[in-house]
Amino acid sequence: MWTMTGTPGILDTICLYVGCGIVILGLIFVWRALFGDRGKGRRRCPRCWYDMAGVPGLRCPECGREAAREAHLTRTRRRWPGAMVWALVMVLGYGGIVTPRVSRHGIEGVVPTTALVWWARASDGPDARSVLDGTKTPSWNGIAPVARALLWRERLQVEAWRRVLAGEAWAWQSRALIERWLKAKGSSIERLVEVPRRWRTGEAVMVRFVQRGTPPEVTGIAFGPSMPVLGPSPIPPPGVPPPPGSPRPLVGPTRSPNARDLSARVEVVTLRPGTASSPAQLKIRDALEIELGGARVPVGKLGASIDGYERGAVLERVNDRATNEIVCEALNPRVVVVGSERFVVVSRRSEAKIWESADIEVGVKLRMMLDGRLLGTGSAATDHITAGIHDYIEVPWTWEAGGMEAMLASPEKAKIELTGDPEAMEEQYMNDPFELRPAAWAGKFQVRVRFNSLRARQP
Ligand SMILES: [Zn+2]
Repeated sequence: MWTMTGTPGILDTICLYVGCGIVILGLIFVWRALFGDRGKGRRRCPRCWYDMAGVPGLRCPECGREAAREAHLTRTRRRWPGAMVWALVMVLGYGGIVTPRVSRHGIEGVVPTTALVWWARASDGPDARSVLDGTKTPSWNGIAPVARALLWRERLQVEAWRRVLAGEAWAWQSRALIERWLKAKGSSIERLVEVPRRWRTGEAVMVRFVQRGTPPEVTGIAFGPSMPVLGPSPIPPPGVPPPPGSPRPLVGPTRSPNARDLSARVEVVTLRPGTASSPAQLKIRDALEIELGGARVPVGKLGASIDGYERGAVLERVNDRATNEIVCEALNPRVVVVGSERFVVVSRRSEAKIWESADIEVGVKLRMMLDGRLLGTGSAATDHITAGIHDYIEVPWTWEAGGMEAMLASPEKAKIELTGDPEAMEEQYMNDPFELRPAAWAGKFQVRVRFNSLRARQP
């Protein structure tokens, strides 16, 4: 047998087209031989096919055969020898199609890819070379290692992964093999990618590559050829502050800061428009690619379920009595007096248990009131939050003209009003959906002004 060059050339194309043509031709003639001559109500002798239209009874006047039943006279005529010949032609045509593959990669090239991805052993993973290497004896005295004869199932396994990694398989075929392999590893394609449960309709959705539980052979994911591969990023040790400019929780315990390193935005389509009672269904439009070793293997669409909401409604709004009490306790707003400065602080950051008990994000607007008069306002925004050096968060605060003096004159009558700010939290969530919870406090409460005398403020 002649051998072909390493790169597919004109000969491959000729083999493919001629082979396909022969297979299709064979298929047509096999069909004609088996189904082309139906009875269609005609009375014919089932042995010699003599037309018995005018013949009474079941005996053929031509060959003398007596049919057992009337129904046998209207049978389809099947030309088995012809069908066999054309089936053989089909086999030859298929042989033509796979000849280049067999020539380059051995006799296992005969096996159709669909059969391989379903039946080849998938447990050993995509590094086909490791399967090969494991079968070689160590090199000795500079003499090349000798490959031992691979078992058949090993050859098929290597060939299955070779085709997937070389891009010779269709997306659904690659997906079938990768799914089987990931399942054997306790993972799945869906588990490689994290998507937010709730998202804003009409905006590209943020996705994240999930490293935990993912076999190390999977080195990244991508959506479409234009998107960079999201590879694993080193997980920063605890206590390392997030990079500047990254969104942060307004209040509450500090969360892992590496979300943005792993995430990217992909286009979505709206499957079903939302109504007031039921959210729109979003689906990721771009096709998923899995990076295995250095190869990017397309595996088709990702089956992710994302609920789409209008702007301002992405986060679930929580406003029940129990939550309000928790938030009131956790925010604990008070006025801090340091020298001549008066500023408002909130939060008990050290009391992480309080925040854990409320499964929500809290953004807040504050107003100080005295007998219906507005003394000052503040609203916490991410920029103003510093890392947890203090137990409290200093609220950016604006006194109205004479507001501070009025508060100091009769502090027992002054009150601080706190209102949940779900819109502000939604903006943060859209930047950091994997670290923030998709629910925001939407309640309101009022407390008397209390003072906190802190030790001297650190300059
Ligand atoms: Zn007959």
